[in-house]
Amino acid sequence: MQELLLATNNQGKIKEFRALLEGLDLRLHTPKILGLRVEVVESGDSYASNAELKAKAFSVASGIWCLADDSGLEVDVLEGLPGLHSARLIGSQRSDKERRQHLLSLLEPHPRPWTARFRSVVALASPGGEIELAEGECLGEVIPEERGTGGFGYDPIFLLQERDQTMAELAMEEKNRLSHRAQSIRAILPVLRHQLGLNA
Ligand code: IMP
Repeated sequence: MQELLLATNNQGKIKEFRALLEGLDLRLHTPKILGLRVEVVESGDSYASNAELKAKAFSVASGIWCLADDSGLEVDVLEGLPGLHSARLIGSQRSDKERRQHLLSLLEPHPRPWTARFRSVVALASPGGEIELAEGECLGEVIPEERGTGGFGYDPIFLLQERDQTMAELAMEEKNRLSHRAQSIRAILPVLRHQLGLNA
């Protein structure tokens, strides 16, 4: 059976990757399962370059196929912030809740709606380090009160466009149909199947 390393330590992303890749003839690994400690400095100037940095670093460390995601929330009135810095807004050691509160404090002086989008770029790295990329996007707006308990990160304050639900109010299956990461994974699936010789 082919093996694929999910190149992230983010438990929210790991859960979603597992569900999104379910049914493929693949043994999925995480850095923790393999005992890998890889620190990647996300120094790229785009989601694509950061996704590539992560996928390559983990493929070098593990010697197997790796899938990485770099993603973020872009708020229009903040000119795309926190964007690439979504995970590190106010420092990487702070909680998701503290990051949400900080984002809301930045938005408070601005009139609503606080239109925004989630973006995701996934990178598939071969054991030899060749990279394939795919991207996805999900539109909505940031709202001032938290709603829902699902998902992770900014999900409780991200209201989906044309729905009266935040990302955190969606069932996992529904988030995995609509989200930016669902779209980037769907876009890379044909490549993944082809490169790893998986059945359609
Ligand atoms: P990175 O891709 O590891 O740099 O981190 C992406 C960050 O963007 C996460 O830590 C979250 O703060 C945010 N983010 C990305 N995808 C999602 C999502 O699906 N829901 C909520 N927040 C997300």
